[in-house]
Amino acid sequence: MSHPERFDTLVLGSGAGGKLLAWHLARSGRRTAVVERRWIGGSCPNIACMPSKNEIWSAKVAHLVRDAAQFGAIRGPVSIDMAAVRQRKRDMVEAQIAGHLQNYKASGAELIMGAGRFVAPRTLEVRLNDGGTRVLAGDQVFLNVGTHAAVPSVPGLQEARPLTHIEALELDYLPTHLIVLGGGYVGLEMAQAYRRFGSRVTVIEHGPQLMAREDPDVSGEVQRILTSEGVQFLLTTQTLRVHGRSGEDVSLVVRTPSGEQTIEGSDILVAAGRIPNTDGIGLEETGVELDGRGYVRVNERLETSAPEVWAIGECAGSPQFTHVSVDDFRIIRDNLAGGTRSTRDRLFPYCMFTDPPLARVGLSEADARRQGATARVARMPMSAVLRAQTTGETQGFMKALVGASDDRILGFTMIGAEAGEVVGTVQTAMLAGLPYSRLRDAVLAHPTMAEGLDPLLSNVPARSAQSVTPKSALLTP
Ligand SMILES: Cc1cc2nc3c(=O)[nH]c(=O)nc-3n(C[C@H](O)[C@H](O)[C@H](O)COP(=O)(O)OP(=O)(O)OC[C@H]3O[C@@H](n4cnc5c(N)ncnc54)[C@H](O)[C@@H]3O)c2cc1C
Repeated sequence: MSHPERFDTLVLGSGAGGKLLAWHLARSGRRTAVVERRWIGGSCPNIACMPSKNEIWSAKVAHLVRDAAQFGAIRGPVSIDMAAVRQRKRDMVEAQIAGHLQNYKASGAELIMGAGRFVAPRTLEVRLNDGGTRVLAGDQVFLNVGTHAAVPSVPGLQEARPLTHIEALELDYLPTHLIVLGGGYVGLEMAQAYRRFGSRVTVIEHGPQLMAREDPDVSGEVQRILTSEGVQFLLTTQTLRVHGRSGEDVSLVVRTPSGEQTIEGSDILVAAGRIPNTDGIGLEETGVELDGRGYVRVNERLETSAPEVWAIGECAGSPQFTHVSVDDFRIIRDNLAGGTRSTRDRLFPYCMFTDPPLARVGLSEADARRQGATARVARMPMSAVLRAQTTGETQGFMKALVGASDDRILGFTMIGAEAGEVVGTVQTAMLAGLPYSRLRDAVLAHPTMAEGLDPLLSNVPARSAQSVTPKSALLTP
């Protein structure tokens, strides 16, 4: 091993939290290097959140134009130019990358493009993308290597060269029939977008409902809305065999509750879970332990089992959202400065960007039952929200869970336009520990979607004399 170059801080993988930490530590004078094999800035700006929301917006425009007559606008035939959809996305990604490079330059953190592998504790060998290797040693090391799409072990699937979200966001053609394996948020967002672009779309989900972590009324409503747009669903369905090649012709033999069927399609998208990028990077040389699923074992301060090594974001088993990876960064940053922050009991919202979106913060009804918390539940259709009546976005509902014997808000779920924004209002009230009545009685701008929180929370049932005190108010889904 050649003599390692020394750094104060080494970050492996330039994901959401890792790059922020690198820029922060470099700005404070630490000699910092970030090793990234492909995506400058990690998944979010290149192949995940940002590009998917960009193309989903194009699909929404197509949908609105198709439905324009409903709004009194003149309607003509709509055709989709997927190459233009992709170019719009590529332009945004390029601007994002340029912004990232600017931040590296301004902060002084060195970005090293290549694949990193540990060869000794806190020592990385980097196979440089431009050729050659460098060996780097860090006083402190941060792992932010993320995850990649799992390809289920179904005979013929690997050979069919299925799309993952990465390739699906790079298509310059419209699949005639896209078959999506997986009814989680990645699969559903893409399913609706491609349906709106004009593909026939079938979603195959092995579980009995979409969005396994959501309450059945929530996943049922999402399914109803997407079905009304023509997305087809096969639930409780196992894929047994795949024939053909994605992008040409594929056929899938599936087992449904009513027997075996063959589904013929043109393209397959796998959106059936994630695998951490921790395999083959020499962690066995470092004392960093993994759990049974390959995620880095961390404590609530995101410290690994090896001294002076932390893990951030998805590879650390943190909930799989950019804002959580960012919060991981904030926890480590503050603790390095002497703080005592932890990942325990943090309240984070999330949003699935279907149209209408689904957003949640805090407990679902199923979570409340699991935690032994008794909750009062208020539910209201979006059709009762005045703003929704103006825009015609009346699908979905809002649901709030409130403590049975105190007035704390335990959870809020919304399927409805602007759900991702409204959830922030409820989250703020929860963080402040406000009783639900404070939010109910707040003067909210009219007509906004958030204004619907008033009638929703007016529906909270009165406390019952026999209510049980909820065990916990803080609450991860
Ligand atoms: C299609 C899709 C849509 C999504 N939409 C949303 C959304 O709307 N909102 C949201 O909050 N979240 C969304 N997510 C999740 C979100 O993208 C991630 O949670 C987020 O990017 C945080 O990831 P991270 O920080 O753990 O690592 P990542 O951003 O994945 O970064 C890890 C980096 O490490 C690099 N790397 C890995 N191994 C090595 C190695 N050995 N050497 C060098 N580099 C290496 C990788 O190339 C990668 O760039 C979406 C995910 C997908 C797949």
